[in-house]
Amino acid sequence: MQQAGTGQHTHCPYCALQCAMTVTAGTHDGGASVDARDFPTNRGGLCRKGWSAAELLAHPDRLTAPLLRDADGVLREAPWDTVLQLIGDRVRDIQARHGRDAVAVFGGGGLTNEKAYTLGKFARLALRTSRIDYNGRFCMSSAAAAGNRAFGVDRGLPFPLEDLGAASVVLLLGSNAADTMPPFVQHLRGAQAAGGLVVVDPRRSATARLTDQGRGVHLQPTPGTDLVLLLGLAHVVVAEGLEDRRFLEARASGYDDVTRGLARWWPERVQGITGVPAASLRAVARLLAAGARRGAEGGHGAYILTGRGIEQHADGTDTTTAAVNLALLLGLPGTAHSGYGTLTGQGNGQGGREHGQKADQLPGYRKITDPAARAHVAGVWGVPEEAIPGPGLPAVELLASLGKPGGTHCLFVHGANVAVSAPDAATVVDGLRSLDLLVVSDFFLSETAALADVVLPVLQWAEEEGTVTNLEGRVLRRRPAVGPPPGARSELWIMQELARLLEAPSLFSEDPSTMFDELARASAGGLADYSGLDYGVLDGADPAYWPYPAGSTGTPRLFLGAFAHPGGRAVLVPVSPRAGTAAARTPAPLLLATGRLLEHYQSGTQTRRVPALLAAQPAARLQLHPSTAHDLGIAQGDPVVVTSAQGEARALADLTPDIRQDTVFLAFHFADAGSANRLTGSATDPVSGMPEFKTTPVGVTRLDSADPLHAARLEVVA
Ligand code: SF4
Repeated sequence: MQQAGTGQHTHCPYCALQCAMTVTAGTHDGGASVDARDFPTNRGGLCRKGWSAAELLAHPDRLTAPLLRDADGVLREAPWDTVLQLIGDRVRDIQARHGRDAVAVFGGGGLTNEKAYTLGKFARLALRTSRIDYNGRFCMSSAAAAGNRAFGVDRGLPFPLEDLGAASVVLLLGSNAADTMPPFVQHLRGAQAAGGLVVVDPRRSATARLTDQGRGVHLQPTPGTDLVLLLGLAHVVVAEGLEDRRFLEARASGYDDVTRGLARWWPERVQGITGVPAASLRAVARLLAAGARRGAEGGHGAYILTGRGIEQHADGTDTTTAAVNLALLLGLPGTAHSGYGTLTGQGNGQGGREHGQKADQLPGYRKITDPAARAHVAGVWGVPEEAIPGPGLPAVELLASLGKPGGTHCLFVHGANVAVSAPDAATVVDGLRSLDLLVVSDFFLSETAALADVVLPVLQWAEEEGTVTNLEGRVLRRRPAVGPPPGARSELWIMQELARLLEAPSLFSEDPSTMFDELARASAGGLADYSGLDYGVLDGADPAYWPYPAGSTGTPRLFLGAFAHPGGRAVLVPVSPRAGTAAARTPAPLLLATGRLLEHYQSGTQTRRVPALLAAQPAARLQLHPSTAHDLGIAQGDPVVVTSAQGEARALADLTPDIRQDTVFLAFHFADAGSANRLTGSATDPVSGMPEFKTTPVGVTRLDSADPLHAARLEVVA
């Protein structure tokens, strides 16, 4: 912690760009202020969320004492020793009555590496349950699955972000980075200058507008048809002989299997499904191939990047795989001047998926079903291998099991607000209400915490020590700049105390560096190997990209010599639209896509408490095309009801020609009646478990002015 008036170097609490900032304590009535710091990812930039992050440190809503629900159903403050003892006793009782797996843990992609690692260990050794998963299942799981099957390992960007700046062509699919991580767009300037930025988005988003004035191309497909679009681009590459045969022969397998299926995706047919003109498809394929050729010759190459827009689908793994196949056909991955990557979303979305809070993984990206991996981790933990449970349930299944016979009766939630962020949120809320015990660790009374039996007040980013791993796979130090409010505790301390009460058989320390050192040992030899890292190395001047085995200096660029599959070759995997998925559904009904806004982050628990951010985006707004609105009798600012098979949500109509006539858009940052996830369903990708967030069929009607919510809604915007 710093003295008042001196700055501490740390990184932003929000997204995976992890912009560098300096936090100075004592400048705001017990709080702190933020200054941007120069760093390769943000180059001195911050977005509105980053600039205002310190306003939450001394926010009047901060939780400063544990809360316990009393017999009257009211949450009241209680001493730490009382609530911890109660949790330990209730866990024992629930497991005695219903079995060990009746207790589950739900983690978050914003937790530090130390907390994510310790949470996985806590679930398996202290709670002795297989049931742990996390909200990254809603973000990165399809991209991770596609990366693993193509390359043998998943690191969001397998190259430093700065490499993008030298590209002449960047194909960006399903990411509105100009709103979600604005400093990122600095890295697109080279492609813009060359007229080579291609943005694929059903909306003419802030990112799509970066292609204006000859700086690139915006393709605006029907939502959910990205897989067909990518198959069409690959068809053109192969049909016109634009693929990199030398790369494919030397470094990849599966070419024949993939190209055999491409014959049926000729551009005119793809145009009929996606709405993207055949001429545009041919032009973009040729643009990419020209960039790829330049890159292969050591010049300004081509990159393909994916985001949640194409990943958050019931066929998200196959769609992302189609993007990877296209990149492999062009010979981009694992080369010095071109590449493929996915843009991680949450602050520690990369590290959070590497070290054991996924249902099927142990630290270091090890498979929990791999006997050698289990033996290694058991050795580090000092327990017999049998003490580590097998795979648990992926997030959507885990949440569906709440309160069900044979299901989950007790849930611990860390770093997540599932009452707002999970699909089919109303059903999730019913599940949370039906639990015997809900324990939520948070620093604000989130919508999920408000349903809890016990709420444990924890630390915010500028109050804690730890590490996060950014979207490039670069491990960064988070450092404390201010003291926490009295009464709040670190989650490491909470797990340490509960593990002691539950007589866990291994080390649980409140000291982050102790847990990081153990994480490094547990990851040794795994795909995400941190064994050469400690806080001393991370505090040095050199960047630390994993894998960073002991004795190495890390790996800024993956795959330059070989891919991670045995034999070192990348794998092209044949994919095609499955019956029942959005890509196979033509003509489409009115489709809802959910997403993020510049001013808010995830479920909005934090950013809805920053007055200037809330003033800019105070309520849920449904974007729809003026023609669609006209047909529905809706005018700008009208309160509307959006209805799906799952439920309904209310919003204010926001008419914009920037969206397709068959598409509406609702951000998922708002709670209660404005919650977008009241509309989304529980269909998931069969490979990754990713929910379908982008193509929910909906109806939209103008809210009757006699409805009491009509007046309330109008008050919100007054
Ligand atoms: S939210 Fe993301 S883009 Fe904005 S300041 Fe933080 S890390 Fe940077």
